[in-house]
Amino acid sequence: MFQRHKTRIVNVGGVLIGGNNPVSVQTMTKTHTEDIDATVRQIRELEEAGCHIVRLAVPTIVSAKCLGIIKRQIKIPMVADIHFGHHLALEAIAQGVDKIRINPGNMKDKSKLEEVVMAAKDRGIPIRIGVNSGSVRGEGDNHEELTSLMVKTVLRYCEHFESLGFKDIVLSLKASDVPSTLAAYRSIATLCDYPLHLGVTAAGPPSLATIKSAIGIGGLLSEGIGDTLRVSYTGAPELEVKAGYEILEALGLYKRQGAELISCPTCGRCEIDLVNIVEKVRQRLPVDKKNLQIAIMGCVVNGPGEAREVDIGIAGGKGFGFLFKKGEKVRKIPEDRMVDELLEEITRMS
Ligand code: SF4
Repeated sequence: MFQRHKTRIVNVGGVLIGGNNPVSVQTMTKTHTEDIDATVRQIRELEEAGCHIVRLAVPTIVSAKCLGIIKRQIKIPMVADIHFGHHLALEAIAQGVDKIRINPGNMKDKSKLEEVVMAAKDRGIPIRIGVNSGSVRGEGDNHEELTSLMVKTVLRYCEHFESLGFKDIVLSLKASDVPSTLAAYRSIATLCDYPLHLGVTAAGPPSLATIKSAIGIGGLLSEGIGDTLRVSYTGAPELEVKAGYEILEALGLYKRQGAELISCPTCGRCEIDLVNIVEKVRQRLPVDKKNLQIAIMGCVVNGPGEAREVDIGIAGGKGFGFLFKKGEKVRKIPEDRMVDELLEEITRMS
């Protein structure tokens, strides 16, 4: 296990970030916050996926006024993501959010920023100071200058907040490139003890963002840096949550309660679309529900043996597969029904 950097503990609506608390997984809704039904629906799906903390964009006062109604219908802590308007932050705090995320650099009026800090202090909620590379990048900044600027900017904001007696702070310094992200977080981790929210910003579509996040977020975690994370995808938020868990699992920082999936690499003997079947099953497997071993194998060479060894398995044939449960061959399933029937069986085995 990695030696974690010592950080202060911040309470976000009952989820503790920092210290020796488990690294929590966050994401952000992708609905318009004013669309209360769609937003609540998405958050409930994220709760199902195991999301610990959810963040919502608050671009307008109408969206800010929806936060309380949404919060009363969900179970996980809610963070309001605020840019520019200090009145949006004040309204979000009044609506009862559990944390706000701001970039102090885009609240130019110092007295208004201080009003927000004092409102958070009165309510006893933390603030994440989130500085992204895009918000500090100047013409011709190279990698080192960019990193140093992000760190200096964040430290200056921390000093300002501390001068107001406010230390309930989480920090993030996300860049869209991995080396700058790594350098910025490594640097800030040596300079203060505020808990760190990790992420690579604007990381791209899942195929690319998974690699960037695994290296960026995973690399930092492997050095003991980081207390909470968000994987950013140009894609569905529940996939961000799954990817977050997969990074933690790969590092041994999370032990999956759910299913373990075994699948063969396929070869010229395979006569079903195994790659597609495995990917669909993987995407729909519940994260935190069932302690099952599942095998999906391409043919009769190794298929029946592996499928018998696990709780539930499939051994492929030509356009069909044999389903095995607890060591017994149960029935033959046509290829086009394989994903649905396997998942139905898994649900019944919970
Ligand atoms: S189980 Fe069959 S299809 Fe899969 S790799 Fe082995 S021989 Fe090939």
